[in-house]
Amino acid sequence: MSTSPPSPDNAPPTNRPVAAALRGQPAEDGAGVRLTRVFQARAAMNLDPFLMLDEFASDQADDYIAGFPSHPHRGFETVTYMLEGHMLHEDHLGNQGHLRDGDVQWMTAGRGIIHSEMPQQQEGRMRGFQLWINLPAAEKMKPAAYRDIPAAQIPRAELANGGWVKVIAGSTPDANGQIVHGPIQGLSTEPVYLHAHLTAGAPWQTPVPSGHTALVYVADGEVLIDGRTLHQGWAGVLGQGAQVALTAGSEGADVLLLAGKPLREPIVQYGPFVMNTREEIEQALRDYSQGTLTGV
Ligand code: MN
Repeated sequence: MSTSPPSPDNAPPTNRPVAAALRGQPAEDGAGVRLTRVFQARAAMNLDPFLMLDEFASDQADDYIAGFPSHPHRGFETVTYMLEGHMLHEDHLGNQGHLRDGDVQWMTAGRGIIHSEMPQQQEGRMRGFQLWINLPAAEKMKPAAYRDIPAAQIPRAELANGGWVKVIAGSTPDANGQIVHGPIQGLSTEPVYLHAHLTAGAPWQTPVPSGHTALVYVADGEVLIDGRTLHQGWAGVLGQGAQVALTAGSEGADVLLLAGKPLREPIVQYGPFVMNTREEIEQALRDYSQGTLTGV
């Protein structure tokens, strides 16, 4: 297990540099959903505890209509953040969750969940993100859990000049320095999940826990960070420092800031199963084929 290095009490906050820039790549998943894979653990370094980030964004029903029919997961968490559109989640526990504009679904697969994620619209725009966050070895076999967080329950930190930050997990200060806390708290990976909507040329700083992996993803517009411009569709993987500091471009920007405490454990992934060893993956495959993945 790791511990974060102590941070000096009296040093000015240091800005996290850009260690690497990644461009999302076109990909297809589910029953034929076209999406942008921003990163995948095997292809990207230093993203622990994050395993994958997808963006789905299309006005064309053919790109999303097939959805993600019934499929399993074990060993990690999935976070779906819907910007526009309507998706229905159903799982073996009997949960039903309608995700609409601005809603979040935080699903802990743990030992096993079998679910479907299906578009509930025949036309129009669908846009959102799915993030996969790893679980520590000690929690990979815990019972599955599921939480819907309606848009109205996601607090917003108001910034100067009309900008704002939606706080899904972790916390961030508003324009008056008041700390706004998100609804997701107390997880081992101590995730931070912020959506910043920045007006043209607006600067934004937010502290991020020392030792956390951190990255920004530019959903719209562009940002200047550490002397580099990141355009729409690019992620910046950040080095260490006390805070993230960036400036929106001339068109403004929408940015996701993701941070989490690294687990520093071996990762063995086979499709929707993410465990620590090959043997555990083989066990997951056996459990799934024998109908005991979820433990019932
Ligand atoms: Mn899924």
